[in-house]
Amino acid sequence: MKGNKTTGAILLACSLLIAFIAGKEFKKMREPEPIVKGEGVTQVKMLSEYFPDIKGTNMDTEIYVLKGKEKGGSTLILGGTHGNEPSGLLSAVLFIENAKVDKGTVYVIPRTNNSGYTHNDPQEGSPQRFTIKTKDGDRWFRYGSRATNPLDQWPDPDVYIHASSGQQLSGNETRNINRAYPGRPDGTSTEKAAYAIVQLIKNEKIDMTIDLHEASPEYPVINAIVAHDRAMGIASNTVMNLEFEDVAIGLEPSPVSLRGLTHRELGDFTDTYAILMETANPAQGRLRGKTNEALVVTGVDPTYVKAQKLGRLFVPFDEKGHPLDERVSRHVGSVVELIKVMGENEPEKEIIIENVPTILEIRENGIGNYLNKVTKN
Ligand SMILES: [Zn+2]
Repeated sequence: MKGNKTTGAILLACSLLIAFIAGKEFKKMREPEPIVKGEGVTQVKMLSEYFPDIKGTNMDTEIYVLKGKEKGGSTLILGGTHGNEPSGLLSAVLFIENAKVDKGTVYVIPRTNNSGYTHNDPQEGSPQRFTIKTKDGDRWFRYGSRATNPLDQWPDPDVYIHASSGQQLSGNETRNINRAYPGRPDGTSTEKAAYAIVQLIKNEKIDMTIDLHEASPEYPVINAIVAHDRAMGIASNTVMNLEFEDVAIGLEPSPVSLRGLTHRELGDFTDTYAILMETANPAQGRLRGKTNEALVVTGVDPTYVKAQKLGRLFVPFDEKGHPLDERVSRHVGSVVELIKVMGENEPEKEIIIENVPTILEIRENGIGNYLNKVTKN
């Protein structure tokens, strides 16, 4: 009897220790990475200002406003729709920390599904954080999840039914904000966040919304722009202009039957031009090898080189991989071009934006060169 008690006490102590260590790691993901406002940021708002129901929840998120002196058009840049697609977050951060707007207004949300950054996907072995070297030391960022944290929305149904269309998807997609648009004020946490984004677009009369994503190299829609019907003109001119700069990028029309996504629902439910972009992230691919911080940042993976030789990929893939620098340069360069084309087509929607590094500069100097110094208060 005494022996049983001792064994029990040891087992209890061990499980408490494991719970403590795991809990500490899990809690670390609640701490947001520092974002250092650049000179161009005129205001920082919270998404809950457009839908107070999400105030104080993990669905609330920061909106950085860069407003020019002169009146013009407006654009909303959505980074971090999916927390495991880091080029979206980093591109948004690059705009926040560098861009200066002379005319019009640029709204940037770096973590669109903020809750997705508080955990990462189970059984994927993803790192919780990765670091970027800058001239002032390392900057760290979280590698989050595609979905809302189950602590913020639970349990998942067996089948997720998209509210406005009745489209059916697997149950875990109920926590994917990019299947939840246009959202519902009385829906799930994820639907409420989507609803808040729609209110922001309507209230601020956003002319163009650009949602930044990544996908695995074996996914057919990659290095591509997906555009809503009304945004096809802007998107096709942009693709042509980027080709002159030697950036190969595909153009896909937003499928009418695919519901809940930004490029479909934001275009249908608001007056915004809705655009989504994808870059190639081997760290989220099914064919990847070792999953670690290096893979996230360098995008180098010998397994993908092999897959490319077998003709299984939709992007070129050699020993140089697809580094985060290249992926961010694509997003940033395309956003600048989309904004320029919109202003050329419709002068009343012109936005004049300065000090954003070019595609070539980001590739040559690296993202770290355009991240500001973090100073502790
Ligand atoms: Zn995505």
